[in-house]
Amino acid sequence: MARDPICGIPIDKEKARFRTTVRGRTYYFCCEYCKHTFLEGEKIAYFSMEVGLTDDIPTYSGGLGVLAGDTIRSSADLKIPLVAVSLVSKKGYLKQEITVEGKQIEHPAEWAPSEFMNELPTQVRVQIQGREVSIKAWLYDHQSLIGGLVSILFLDTDVEDNTPEDREITSFLYGGDERYRLKQEIVLGIGGVRMLKASGFKIRKYHMNEGHSSLLTLELLRERDKNPAKIRDLCVFTTHTPVEAGHDKFPYDVVQKVMGEIVPLEIVKRYGGRERLNMTLLALNLSKYVNGVAKRHKDLSIKLFPGYHISAITNGVHSFTWTCESFRKLFDKYLPGWANEPELLVRVDLIPDEEIWQAHMEAKRKLLAFVMENTNVRLDQDILTIGFARRATEYKRMNLLFSDLAKLREINSRGRIQAIFGGKAHPKDWSGKHLIEEIHEYIRELENEIKIIYLENYDMQISAKLTSGVDVWLNTPLPPLEASGTSGMKAAHNGVINFSVLDGWWIEGYVEGVTGWAIGPSPKESFGEDERRQIELEDLYHKLQYLIIPKFYNRRDDWIHMMENSVGKVAYYFNSHRMMRRYVTEAYL
Ligand SMILES: *Cc1c(COP(=O)(O)O)cnc(C)c1O
Repeated sequence: MARDPICGIPIDKEKARFRTTVRGRTYYFCCEYCKHTFLEGEKIAYFSMEVGLTDDIPTYSGGLGVLAGDTIRSSADLKIPLVAVSLVSKKGYLKQEITVEGKQIEHPAEWAPSEFMNELPTQVRVQIQGREVSIKAWLYDHQSLIGGLVSILFLDTDVEDNTPEDREITSFLYGGDERYRLKQEIVLGIGGVRMLKASGFKIRKYHMNEGHSSLLTLELLRERDKNPAKIRDLCVFTTHTPVEAGHDKFPYDVVQKVMGEIVPLEIVKRYGGRERLNMTLLALNLSKYVNGVAKRHKDLSIKLFPGYHISAITNGVHSFTWTCESFRKLFDKYLPGWANEPELLVRVDLIPDEEIWQAHMEAKRKLLAFVMENTNVRLDQDILTIGFARRATEYKRMNLLFSDLAKLREINSRGRIQAIFGGKAHPKDWSGKHLIEEIHEYIRELENEIKIIYLENYDMQISAKLTSGVDVWLNTPLPPLEASGTSGMKAAHNGVINFSVLDGWWIEGYVEGVTGWAIGPSPKESFGEDERRQIELEDLYHKLQYLIIPKFYNRRDDWIHMMENSVGKVAYYFNSHRMMRRYVTEAYL
């Protein structure tokens, strides 16, 4: 059986009357109309440096890539005509090993694209450092279980005609120096536009997921008589970075050496900034629709870039992907259709409390079995379990919970707690690596009192296990550095309760004591920075001791109602189906 890539109807390959072979694959259709739409219909081209489809294809490092994956999954379900472009990152991001002392050791996460994808017959070229560099592409088709199909092109410079150096351009995700990064961005942005065209895609909009791909605007300018109005009509830009330092910038001498003159330098400077080529600015100047990934992030972006019209489309997660098996079964039974219409989760109250609790216990058992298997530590099914896992980088403040060990010990004597951590540090993020070591020191110090686990090699699979199997999902980024965050939305889909700093999406998601708890003041309140840090710590410890622990151990019914609110008031909104519907109506149409 095949599925019609446009309407999703199952088709018997033997009997199919409508078929076509393009890009090395045969597709089957229910009717001439679907076939015609597939071949001739215009698509949204979604560009992202990283894409998190599955853990077998390790071309992601964190939230940005997982968001791209969820964008693709929701688009396929909703039959949004989208094609994605990314880099093949053949040596992956990294596979993490952690020594007993807590030192991170990185191994390449090499993978073989040919096991999952087929190589396109077409190649394109871009100019890099005065050389013609050939680019090939791997095609991966993501077929929705209920809807359409989204193709992803993974660009690859590992081609025989290229110099050994150029063959490595698409090897390492976020590896190398400034020049290496610029070369990757040339391949992604300029190479991507050329590859789409050469392999027969017709494009109605170019969506840049973060500034990494914004060189595509220069290729479009070159193609279309350098007319900026035409390019703006075609381009959509989503920024993900809330602070000035986070935006990719390249000195013009490097740009000239590496990129050459795709359009005259004067034009690049006009849109990309006078002093340095600022990828965010380039995208801002040449996109008609620009958005931040949460309301607060939009406000910050407007402050960073005054004078631009910037909207907000708050991120979401793919409901089906991030809901564990036991909750999927429950939702199927009481809220059929929820996966493609997550708004139905608003009716979570139809589900009996006891069944919610049992579904959670099942997810928790599975997580604890996984922990046992991987670390040989037996955690207790009945103890309040706190989860914290994300990229190990300073602003996420993985160590905040351990700021006052005496306090933590006191809390644990009132009501037992245990915790599970996880996260990879970028190979060059020394402070991130140091954080992992620091957490391991705390783990040893508290060994005989509070059981704390650090899971190795945090990835999407572990994220799914953790965000469904713990009781409380802790999130402590330093405001305002979390543009959105998404792992807490995964937790909400599984009835796990959020306990988080008021930054990113949680400002929109929290109702104190109803959908979860806040750590620290709202950004609207006028406190100084030192005071804020103080209040965050007080909230962290006080709420854990006086609100969370008593409710978990003594008022289980109230606890389950909060779990239900997590589903009915958080997950029903913070999902990527809602997010993509908004991109369609506000940005794509
Ligand atoms: C969901 C996810 C993230 C994003 O988590 P945040 O807490 O929002 O940063 C990062 N990494 C992986 C592997 C994920 O699955």
